[in-house]
Order: sequence, then C-alpha cells, then structure tokens
Amino acid sequence: MSLLAVDDIDAYYGESHILRGLSMAVEEGEICALLGRNGAGKTTTLRSVAGARPPDVRDGTVTFRGDDITQMATEDIAIRGVGLVPEERRVFPNLTVEENLHLSEVSRNASNTAGRDVGDLPETRPLSELYEAFPRLDERQNQLAGTLSGGEQQMLAIARALRQAPDLLMLDEPYEGLAPQIIDDVEDAIERINDEGTTILLIEQNAAAAISIADQCYIIDQGQVVFDGEAEELREDEETRKRYLGV
Ligand code: ATP
Repeated sequence: MSLLAVDDIDAYYGESHILRGLSMAVEEGEICALLGRNGAGKTTTLRSVAGARPPDVRDGTVTFRGDDITQMATEDIAIRGVGLVPEERRVFPNLTVEENLHLSEVSRNASNTAGRDVGDLPETRPLSELYEAFPRLDERQNQLAGTLSGGEQQMLAIARALRQAPDLLMLDEPYEGLAPQIIDDVEDAIERINDEGTTILLIEQNAAAAISIADQCYIIDQGQVVFDGEAEELREDEETRKRYLGV
C-alpha cells in the first residue's frame, strides 16, 4: 500500500477544471518530486491532498495509509501525520525563532479545544532535535524571524512543520528565491529529514535541483500526469525534460 495515493481526481476552482483525472502515489520512505511548468497544477494537487484552501475535488479519492482523506479538514489530515510547508513560508516575523517553534504547540491546543482528541496527535518533536537538524536555527534561537535570511526562514518553516513529527512532509517550492548556496543547505536538510524516516513530497519549479535528490518523479501538464518514473530515468530523458520543464 502506498503511503499517499491520489486516485483519478478531478479538481475545480469554481467552474475552472484544473486537475483532470490525476493519479499519483508516494511510497513510504521516498523523496517524490512533483514537477511541471507554471500553472500546471502542482499547488492545486498539493491542496487537494492537504486541504489548505482546497479546490473542489468532484471525482476521485485521496488516501493516506489506505484511509480515505478526500476533502477532509486540514487539521484532521495533520493529525493523521501529513505536514505541509506552503509556498509562502509562514513564519511570524515579529516572534523569535524559538517562539515560532513553540507555536506548533499552540495549534495543538487549538485542535484540542476544537473538539479533537489531542491524544490522537502525533508526539511533538523536542526542540533540541530540531536545533540539531538545523544548526543555523540553533545559533539564532532568540533572533526575530523577520530578520532571518530567506534560506533561514525556509528552514524555520520546515522545522515548524517537523515539530508535529509528520510521516509525510509536503513542501511547496522550498527553493523559491534562494541563492544556489542556500539551496544546497535546504537540500541537505531535506535529505537528512528523509534519512531519519520522513517521507517527502517536493513540489519545485527548479526541476534540476529537485531531480537531484528525488527517488521518484511526476511531471504534470495542464492538470494531467505526463511522466511518472524514477528520477534516474528523468535525468537521462532530455527530451521529456525539455518538452515539459524547459530544462
Ligand atoms: P506555479 O508553479 O506557478 O505555482 P502550479 O503548477 O503550482 O504553478 P497551480 O497553482 O496549481 O499551478 O495552478 C493551476 C491553475 O489553477 C492555474 O491556471 C491557476 O491560475 C489556477 N488557479 C490556482 N488557484 C486558483 C484559485 N484559487 N481560483 C481560480 N483558479 C486558480
């Protein structure tokens, strides 16, 4: 059984038909890259899974560990072990690094008051573990998040999502706007997280960087899967890369 399975979904924003019979699967333990040009439907696919500002999924199903999670509320999906780092790195600029990391606990309490059983929530990961994974954050515990560099803010956004110890971490364009050297650092962090057992679904415009760390790749174009295979295969398939990714 795949950890995450998106099966033949049709998703709409209003009457705009965005995803057309899209299917994909993420296997436990892997780094899966979802690639495609601007507007191909990558973020819409992710939102169809995670429920944050979701499109209307009228057909098909999304399952996580075999359970149907189609159009379930974001909090309920998070409780099941799906973490999301959205495109617009949500850090609180006027709070310190440490305070940002503590906010995951606040959302945990909010889930409790919303009538959810907090006992069902995954264990929160100790801050010490996160600082070990992100030494740059360790050095900047008391710095305001708004004064961090773009790469450091991305690491903080990832660390916040990891606080809930998700089994699957979905990252929407984590390299956007980052200098090549910083991309390398974020890449290293993603690989380390994966080595420690978190499955990764990575959405990226920077196809070359994503392919370099991925095990499995999907390319979508106009809301449909046009390539599905091992990253190795895509590395060698220049024609497909040129046609759908322009690289
Ligand atoms: P990018 O890399 O540019 O973020 P993407 O592959 O993630 O692109 P999506 O954001 O999924 O693409 O967008 C797919 C299509 O859906 C686009 O044509 C976009 O204009 C449209 N779309 C996205 N969000 C909405 C919305 N809230 N309402 C209406 N249309 C939307």
